[in-house]
Amino acid sequence: MPLQSDMYVNGAFVPATGGERDAVHAPATGEQYAEVARGSAADVDKAVEAAHAAFPGWSRTTPADRARALLSLADRVEEDAENLAQIESQNVGKPIGLAREELEMIPDHLRFFAGAARTLEGRAAGEFVAGKTSIIRRGPLGVVGSVAPWNYPILMATWKLAPSILTGNTLVLKPSEHTPFSLLRLAELASDLLPPGVFNVVTGDGPEVGARLAQHPLVRMSSLTGSVETGRALMRASAETNLKRLHLELGGKAPVLVFDDANVDLAVEKIMEGAFCNSGQDCMAASRVYAHARVHDELVAGLEKAVKALDLGDLQDDGTDMGPVITARHRDRVEGYVERAAAQDHVEVFRGSDPGRGFYSAPTLVAGARQGDEIVREEVFGPVTSVTRFDDGDDVVAWANDTEYGLASSVFTRDVARAMTVSADLQFGTVWVNDHLPVTPEMPHGGYKQSGNGKDMSTYALEEYTEVKHVMINTEAS
Ligand code: NAD
Repeated sequence: MPLQSDMYVNGAFVPATGGERDAVHAPATGEQYAEVARGSAADVDKAVEAAHAAFPGWSRTTPADRARALLSLADRVEEDAENLAQIESQNVGKPIGLAREELEMIPDHLRFFAGAARTLEGRAAGEFVAGKTSIIRRGPLGVVGSVAPWNYPILMATWKLAPSILTGNTLVLKPSEHTPFSLLRLAELASDLLPPGVFNVVTGDGPEVGARLAQHPLVRMSSLTGSVETGRALMRASAETNLKRLHLELGGKAPVLVFDDANVDLAVEKIMEGAFCNSGQDCMAASRVYAHARVHDELVAGLEKAVKALDLGDLQDDGTDMGPVITARHRDRVEGYVERAAAQDHVEVFRGSDPGRGFYSAPTLVAGARQGDEIVREEVFGPVTSVTRFDDGDDVVAWANDTEYGLASSVFTRDVARAMTVSADLQFGTVWVNDHLPVTPEMPHGGYKQSGNGKDMSTYALEEYTEVKHVMINTEAS
């Protein structure tokens, strides 16, 4: 099936106003394989105006009608799952097995939101002032401008599309310039399910298309999954224009605390999944491990063996564990972190294989890292994890919390009381106990500190995209 490479604005696929196109590369080979419309501020303006015009009609539809449209979209995604998985695998450089797993999640997430949106209500009415009845309503905000990243393009887009549209908002969504194709396919699948203007996709880069979306005075809410730096840009744009609501899912530096009573084999298995899934390009990646001295050497030996055994073979092969990173620039950034870490005498670096083509970066374990090291403090967003030893006297929870990020964390222990106290003290939006990485649409996902604000998934996400309104009725008026 040919890739859709035009934007989706006001119910139609259209080229960029200026006719420009951007090259798109396959990370596994490094070669250009497609082009996509390169939008501009003028394209954003058209899409926002269409979304603004569609809002009065869409916001008055019933939750049941909106849910029906997204349930149909879920069915279509399910039927098109293999095609979408192939698009995602080639465009992001994901092993096909991982892409297929993600595609199984999309219809499930759409169906969860379609059901949950029908349960939204204001709180019960009451007479708080004599002769007056107060009720609380929940309503949509207007046009939402959303910006998505390249690591899980269709999943992150679904987390934005479903709660915004189901609550009666209209949406202009910008995919990453590196990974537009799965979202454009989703727009094709949705094209006859939603009225023109309700859902628009504008392709293009961050500084022009993303920035205009964040600045547009008719956009009432900006939602972003991306870096802290881009989150700041959206905050500035909001402050300088119309104080639009912000929903920011930003970076992470997830700690993994492995205590002396942990099941070390389980910890190795879960750290490998958590650190190297999607080539470590995951905001919740298990990127810094703290291991108690009594289990440290066994854990490092297990991780070293597993890192060297990772299969970086053909993306089409079901047994392939890991693919490349997204761009040559990003690979160079990841390699820079590894080189600077390796230059320190106190660390030992273990690396797996690298196919030596495309944008691959070999899976890497940095053992012996210390709390102040760059590799422990900064988000690498690549296939790299570090191990830091701690002892009985060390406050490892304080080390874990000693970061400006606060998205995800995990604890490995067999002691229930310790699991409870440590998970209460960790300042992260998610804490796994004896696991790392699984998510489910029923549960919220979001961060503390500079990992952002607001929640994706769960009924909390639906609340983010709505406003509470007090209606007071004078019951004594004639
Ligand atoms: P990025 O911030 O560079 O880009 C994200 C999106 O923002 C892209 O669509 C980009 O075009 C756009 N953008 C860039 N500059 C912009 C600007 N000035 N104004 C408006 N839009 C702009 O991030 P990325 O490299 O695509 O993704 C990696 C980052 O995303 C990592 O930091 C990662 O932790 C984070 N992330 C967070 C979550 C989460 O749920 N918290 C999930 C996935 C990724």
